[in-house]
Amino acid sequence: MRLFSILAFGTLMLPLAARANDPNSYAQPDQVRVTHLDLDLAIDFPRKQLDGQATLTLDWQNPKAQSLVLDTRDLKIARVEALAADGKATGLKYILSPRDKQLGSKLTIATPKRPAQVRIVYTTSPEASGLQWLTPAQTADKKLPFMFSQSESIHARSWVPLQDSPAIRFTYDARVTAPKDVRVVMSAINDAKHPLDGKFAFDQPHPIPSYLLAIAAGDLAVKETGPRSAVYAEPSVVDKAAHEFEDTEKLIAATEQLYGPYAWGRYDILVLPPSFPFGGMENPNMTFATPTVLVGDKSLVSLVSHELAHSWSGNLVTSAAWRDIWLNEGFTTYVQGRITEAVYGNALADEEALLSARALQKSIGAMAANAQKLAPDPRGIGADDALSDVAYDKGSWFLRTLEQRFGRERFDAYLKGYFHHFAFQSITTEQMLDYMKPNLVEKYPGKMGWDEVRAWVYGEGIPKGAPLPDSPRFNTIDRERSDFLAGKLAAGKLDAKGWNTQEWMYFLDRLPDAPPLAKMQQLDAAWHLTGTPNAEIGMRWYSHAIAAGDKAVWNAAAEHMTRIGRIYLTTPLYKAFAKTPEGLAFAEQVYARARAGYHPLTQQVVESVFASAKTAHK
Ligand SMILES: [Zn+2]
Repeated sequence: MRLFSILAFGTLMLPLAARANDPNSYAQPDQVRVTHLDLDLAIDFPRKQLDGQATLTLDWQNPKAQSLVLDTRDLKIARVEALAADGKATGLKYILSPRDKQLGSKLTIATPKRPAQVRIVYTTSPEASGLQWLTPAQTADKKLPFMFSQSESIHARSWVPLQDSPAIRFTYDARVTAPKDVRVVMSAINDAKHPLDGKFAFDQPHPIPSYLLAIAAGDLAVKETGPRSAVYAEPSVVDKAAHEFEDTEKLIAATEQLYGPYAWGRYDILVLPPSFPFGGMENPNMTFATPTVLVGDKSLVSLVSHELAHSWSGNLVTSAAWRDIWLNEGFTTYVQGRITEAVYGNALADEEALLSARALQKSIGAMAANAQKLAPDPRGIGADDALSDVAYDKGSWFLRTLEQRFGRERFDAYLKGYFHHFAFQSITTEQMLDYMKPNLVEKYPGKMGWDEVRAWVYGEGIPKGAPLPDSPRFNTIDRERSDFLAGKLAAGKLDAKGWNTQEWMYFLDRLPDAPPLAKMQQLDAAWHLTGTPNAEIGMRWYSHAIAAGDKAVWNAAAEHMTRIGRIYLTTPLYKAFAKTPEGLAFAEQVYARARAGYHPLTQQVVESVFASAKTAHK
């Protein structure tokens, strides 16, 4: 997933009862493991619900086990039955426990005979945390309704009853019905030529963790971008998306060159409506992506490199628990940088690495000690909390450090071997370290001590001497920014005509938190940043202008916040407004208009911004 800072949530403490296995799941994989999911879904747009039948194939680990425990959230269970080999169904007793705020409801099914298959018949709630339902008016083309899932981290349980832990992998197949003219896609091989007859079928033959279960449905056109890639998007967006992502095959080939064959067959991209709460989601075979990266000049294509990289780091080798998520995101951010370098050159890769490293340096000190660790103490970390900048940017910084110390050739061979060794497995940080010790650190002695490795993984902050790339263009921007702020360089004299997105991001990121109002007005007069169609630039511009007290930008900022539901691009504006009572009141009005178009996760983050602002203003 590519999300950037979403850490507006407090640290979630988990109930003691859930800690036996994965603390974020009720599943008991030491008793029984789901190996295959056979799913029947009917998409009901008017009711905003899925009517489902999930048939789970079970591998009993304990020959005396008496029950099957599943994760659910807000599911209405109609019946549960055991399936005999001849298909004969027998009703099973079950208990759906009261809803826990974080974990949902534990579903305990009595299975004294340990059947090979269990079927659950259920419907989802219109408020399912893992689904968003959009009316035609909330889509780009306004013709058909739209729905999509976001299962990471623990939201698959809100649309399928299952063992919702990344430690458990299963294959799946699905049959989905939908209204005519709607196209359904899933995290499986998709047939671009499938008729829009309301009946779709999918097969995912590789074992995946539950957070990679995904579905979307709406008015979707398809355009090929290469021999094994296509984009899916609303008809008015598909050409723009195909142009922006025309390098997809080059990106796949570059990654294969580094880390071995792409294991999944096709690699397609689905461009979602602007309410998608994240940058992208690496659903196997079908990356889900925000439309905010369609800026026309391919400058934000690193999002595709990131999601594609997950085909190796994350989807192939998966972190076994949310506490180990840096194995997915840190490795992926590193691989993303290598793909960018291979296809677009050193300068852009170095700029992106520097942008994230500088942002982390600025933010890490304010985080709780446990949150500063790559592998935090699992008792203090909730599933969504674990997906922080530390996992992404400290993780990738650690890997860049390893590359520098051991040399690129050795480190590349090591990483390729690691992906191969753990392919289609879910592993812990400790398993990764047990592999790294003999295969890298002890194999090439004198390059990096084991204590230093442990300090990166289990220590707080950023280890001293962590290497940073050098970017001559960023150095120039640092000079120009200082001269501009000191009054030595007029806004119009900034050499910004040729700045790419990353260079504008870097210029704006390192302005003072509350810059002088006059400086903001001069910048806007010279460069017309208010109203920019580039949401990365817009987010940074509006945040600083609001903090400077520039009321002239308020309405344009409100338009940005209403148009875009991506958490990372929208919540910083809410935070900037929430600093003053007047701004907070304005932001609450904006939210009242925007809320219906926001994903449940975006709503949750914005509401937590308001709640802490109100405490602060008391
Ligand atoms: Zn990611």
